[in-house]
Amino acid sequence: MLMECSDYGLTRTLERDNLNLNPLQRGGVLPAAARKALYEFGDGYSVCDYCEGRLDQIPRPHVNSFLDDLADFIKADAVRTVHGAREGKFAVMHALCEEGDTIVVDGNAHYTTHLAAERNGLEIVEVPSTGHPDYEIKPETYREVLEETLEETEVKLAVLTHVDGNYGNLTDAAAIAGICRELGVPLLLNCAYSMGRMPVELKTLKVDFVVGSGHKSMAASGPIGVLGMGAEWEDLLLKRSPRHEKKEVELLGCTSRGAPLATLMASLPYVRERVSRWDEEVERTRYLVSELEKMDGVRQIGLRPKEHDLVRFETPVFHEIASSHPRRGFFLYEELKKRRIVGIRRGQTRWFKCSVYGMTDRQVQYIIDSFREIVEENRD
Ligand SMILES: *Cc1c(COP(=O)(O)O)cnc(C)c1O
Repeated sequence: MLMECSDYGLTRTLERDNLNLNPLQRGGVLPAAARKALYEFGDGYSVCDYCEGRLDQIPRPHVNSFLDDLADFIKADAVRTVHGAREGKFAVMHALCEEGDTIVVDGNAHYTTHLAAERNGLEIVEVPSTGHPDYEIKPETYREVLEETLEETEVKLAVLTHVDGNYGNLTDAAAIAGICRELGVPLLLNCAYSMGRMPVELKTLKVDFVVGSGHKSMAASGPIGVLGMGAEWEDLLLKRSPRHEKKEVELLGCTSRGAPLATLMASLPYVRERVSRWDEEVERTRYLVSELEKMDGVRQIGLRPKEHDLVRFETPVFHEIASSHPRRGFFLYEELKKRRIVGIRRGQTRWFKCSVYGMTDRQVQYIIDSFREIVEENRD
């Protein structure tokens, strides 16, 4: 009895046995080198054997040179690992703002941007998107809202979602960074869905801060995030404790350590290589969209053509089938599962989000054919 209860259900073959369309999970699958690192560094505080008080300076494993390579990869002057993209955003807001300050945020921001601001006691002014069906964040709208807000109050920070998690829209970060620079407001770019999938370079986009998510898009087990900044922000963001002079206060001394860090490190060469093939991923995504849209009652929402692998579809065709199907809304999930395709939420048929990031052409074709077959077999 005790044996049965004590494993907490810790078995998982979903990723091995199925094709997983959940966008949240496509960029976090570990390559073999990272699985080995996960095993080697599973023990608590296992990266600390050769630590002399600073996580970012540990020589063995080579955390120090890894961070140099990571800074070079994202073209930032300084990089630290944090627990996730949200903790990176929280740290930047905390270092730059006082309670009651105002920040400007795009209307497609992730909930964690809002929570990071709330935990810091900040007022949020939102830049609206264009709404259905594109949900675009336009640079000119960003400028209008920022200018209007600046007439009323000081704005300590602007936040932009590089690629949002609802529509997979890529924003024009370089243009919005130019506007922020002109108006004297530092810009934090949230790259949770972009860094590690597509090229993200702080110096090229000319933003002040970037945050990334190891478990979302950098093939790391996590929880781990990346915080990159320009040199002018190092003193403020990485200020040391007067009492513990080696320790960086905003990071509470040390952030994610052990397996999350080891897997992020082990995956960097793999991530670098896959980012260099981003064009192929975009092509594959566009192919998926064009093939699925050949079916009546399937339409891609968000900006066209796709510039990112996360796709949102409106699917009245599946909603219609569900209305007369004995399994109702569950039919789609169940039909996909039969074909070993998972990652579309159970019971959902009006719309869904999906991603084929990292899949082969054959796998993508199989997914397209499966959707077609499901429509043909179930439509009356
Ligand atoms: C997933 C996601 C996050 C959260 O990332 P964590 O690393 O888990 O904090 C933040 N922003 C966006 C846009 C996301 O898609």
